[in-house]
Amino acid sequence: MADLPDAPIPARIEQKGPRELLIEWSDGVEHVYEVRALRLACACAVCVDEWSGKARLDSSSVPEDVHPRHIKTVGRYALQFDWSDGHDTGIYPFARLRALGEGELPGRPGLQSDGTRGGGR
Ligand SMILES: [Zn+2]
Repeated sequence: MADLPDAPIPARIEQKGPRELLIEWSDGVEHVYEVRALRLACACAVCVDEWSGKARLDSSSVPEDVHPRHIKTVGRYALQFDWSDGHDTGIYPFARLRALGEGELPGRPGLQSDGTRGGGR
């Protein structure tokens, strides 16, 4: 049994402009990402609390012109960005990048913020 998932992987990664990153997937789909949104979607332990799943990253601390200085492949499953704000610990699994490209908002199941804060009484 092959243990590689039969999922698309990035075939081409190109910085389209100061704020746009293009990823062309192995199945021919192209997604264009707003690079700052990608930075803010970082799910590493520095940016997201490992225990509560709450964002620890203050978006106002991320420069408007943040951009990847370097992008490298991690194994066969993820990309690691070296961001211009000095942050380089974030790893973006392909499946997550794909989901982000398809317009799914970052978030975790079970954490709903629909106005009810929970545990109020
Ligand atoms: Zn991070």
